[in-house]
Amino acid sequence: MNADRTKPNGKAVRSANSDRLAATLAFDGSVAQVRAVSSGRATALANMKIRTVRDLLTHFPRRYIDMSHVETVLSASIGETCTIVGEVLNVELKRPRPRLSLTEITLHDGTCTLMVTCFRQDWLKDRLHLGDRIAVSGKLEFNYGFKRMTNPFIEPMAQPGDTGTGLIIAVHPASEKMSTAWMRRLIRNALDLCWGIEDPLPLDLRVRYRLQSRQAALHCIHFPSTMDEALAARRRLTYEEVLLLELHLMRRRVASGSVQHGRAHRVDGPCLLALEEALPFQLTEEQDAARADLLKTLAADKPGNHLLLGDVGTGKTVIAAFGLAAAADSGTQALMMAPTEVLALQHAESLGPLLDRAHISWDVLTGSTSDADRCAMLEKLASGSLTVLFGTHALLEHDVRPRDCSLVVIDEQQRFGVDQRAALIAKGHEADVFSMTATPIPRSLALALYGDMTLSYLRTRPRNRAGIETRLFARTQKGAAYEMARDELDAGHQVYVVCPLVGRVPAGGKEGDSAQDPGTSSSDDSYAYSSIAIEGEADMHDDNARAAVQQAKFLQDKIFCGYQVGVLHGRMGSADKQAAMDAFRSGETQVLVATTVIEVGVDVPNATVMIIEDADCFGLAQLHQLRGRVGRGDCPGLVCLVSGSKAPLALERLSAMESIDDGFRLAEYDLSLRREGDILGNRQHGASVLKLVNVVRDAAIIEAAHDDARAIIDSDPDLSLPEHQALRHEVSRAFPSQRKDG
Ligand code: ADP
Ligand code: MG
Repeated sequence: MNADRTKPNGKAVRSANSDRLAATLAFDGSVAQVRAVSSGRATALANMKIRTVRDLLTHFPRRYIDMSHVETVLSASIGETCTIVGEVLNVELKRPRPRLSLTEITLHDGTCTLMVTCFRQDWLKDRLHLGDRIAVSGKLEFNYGFKRMTNPFIEPMAQPGDTGTGLIIAVHPASEKMSTAWMRRLIRNALDLCWGIEDPLPLDLRVRYRLQSRQAALHCIHFPSTMDEALAARRRLTYEEVLLLELHLMRRRVASGSVQHGRAHRVDGPCLLALEEALPFQLTEEQDAARADLLKTLAADKPGNHLLLGDVGTGKTVIAAFGLAAAADSGTQALMMAPTEVLALQHAESLGPLLDRAHISWDVLTGSTSDADRCAMLEKLASGSLTVLFGTHALLEHDVRPRDCSLVVIDEQQRFGVDQRAALIAKGHEADVFSMTATPIPRSLALALYGDMTLSYLRTRPRNRAGIETRLFARTQKGAAYEMARDELDAGHQVYVVCPLVGRVPAGGKEGDSAQDPGTSSSDDSYAYSSIAIEGEADMHDDNARAAVQQAKFLQDKIFCGYQVGVLHGRMGSADKQAAMDAFRSGETQVLVATTVIEVGVDVPNATVMIIEDADCFGLAQLHQLRGRVGRGDCPGLVCLVSGSKAPLALERLSAMESIDDGFRLAEYDLSLRREGDILGNRQHGASVLKLVNVVRDAAIIEAAHDDARAIIDSDPDLSLPEHQALRHEVSRAFPSQRKDG
């Protein structure tokens, strides 16, 4: 059994029971008990939110380097993604331009020389020494007479005596103060400490699904000897993760079922009726149903938690207005939170006039609201004279204290962490919660994950929209795309140009985290429905802002002369951002050159064309979000994906954008492209305890765990049977504080 390898040599043989007890206690003890965790390292770990041994052992690898498939520079073929191990012959830091630095590493593996170029990772120069052995994985290119890799994933190889390595090397998320090598060493020590740890899963379930023991799984996920072993470990731990969460949720529901109150909103009041009158369009049947579902949830005197799921452009926002009106009719207040300032302002813009007509007072609070305005607003909120407050994370500040908030609305809920959602909900008093998301989670999974929610779906877009056509253009055909855009401008429509992202290299340069190969990493990983790239993440770089500005100037002068070209990027102040959006919305500018700030939710119905430059740099989810910005009015949208890439995989991904227009199918397609290195790709969903599970990929596991949890709770609601002791213990350990959210 694998687990035996974890037994430290020379450890005195103790009785199995006391071993198990000690190990189990150690698991939830401070990480400081782990050998080699000095106070400095404890601090470094704490900065990564690793405080207990459990945190450390569930700090799962982000990927593996499969050394059983290492290629030689000589044999590896151009265009292939591969791993090469070699000796550092030279490291040189160059600054070809101000603000641009690159580290050039010359690597030799006994067969041939490989040139490695890393942008903006100056620290490499100090970390790598001549003669070091390193593994690099990335795509092999050929340029200027050498085989090369650009921004590959770099991993220092074992020095003699390093315990961390086998044929498969796990690479854990690391930080500047805590290298991947140290991470491995500490995890190894933590495994020693927890040798003999109790397995919370009842034996019958382990047998039924042929799951590894917990000890073996923890060992194998960090130190697998084959990829199969790593996968089996992941399967076991994923199952455990979901089962514990389900048990927790179900028990909480049992416990809270009868006691907790919710607000019974009035859902036939004057504001609601006035709102209905004020609507500029008729609701679709689905919207009607979603509204009815929401109002039903709000009317009940139980705690209400409603989730509205619908792809971009399906018209979710207006449903929220009915919730806001119900709060107004009930004499209470509502907060509505969006993940970005642009989006919060847009809520105000689109729903504000409707609320005005329904005589509901409202305002918007963002990080850039002036102090005076903010003060006045918060005072009114506290006194109750302000009914609806839209906003961003700024709503979470401690001095935002509504007098009596009975409803919180969370738009693009997948973009917020559990804690943020909980913080907003805590602003209310027994408040109902209405969340919206473009993440297309199938109903069964949503119920499994958010069991105490009611759900509605919007599957079709309002009006028989002519739809969005997506077309792929090689860079050399870019002119054709611009011509089509010009035609649309001539027809009175508007155009987005999404700018290329310059060097997607993370600013801090984390060790062991240097791979940003667009085809396989960051943007894709952010795909699977949990965290679609944080706004401005890439965008915050000056270079991107500058690229946008330059591009705008070029387009203004050379391509779209006669039309007004505006710019929007993450570096602009919010007043400028707002001004740029306003100008575009009002038609004052007809072309908007933007970075990914426009990714979420921006709504300008007259925009019909979007040109996305260097489309291969984006993840499919991001492209899908982006393209949802056009064709929102009566006219069909056209999305031109421009790419200079010749890599078959990149082109295949992009042509999937042409043929698949459903966000959910696109997600599945994207997942089907993943390879072993990505198996642990996606993290965090909903609850922060879900570290491994991915709602699409792990659908079967989630459903099985859900059913099993149901059966367990039905037969033993308190988990008091002897065979459930360990489970109960584990549930309470894994979910120490009763969070208020679903
Ligand atoms: P999303 O679901 O992406 O949040 P929005 O709520 O922003 O979508 O709506 C997209 C666009 O569709 C908006 O311009 C909105 O005004 C419009 N819209 C919503 N419902 C309808 C409807 N029933 N008929 C016509 N247009 C609608
Ligand atoms: Mg929206």
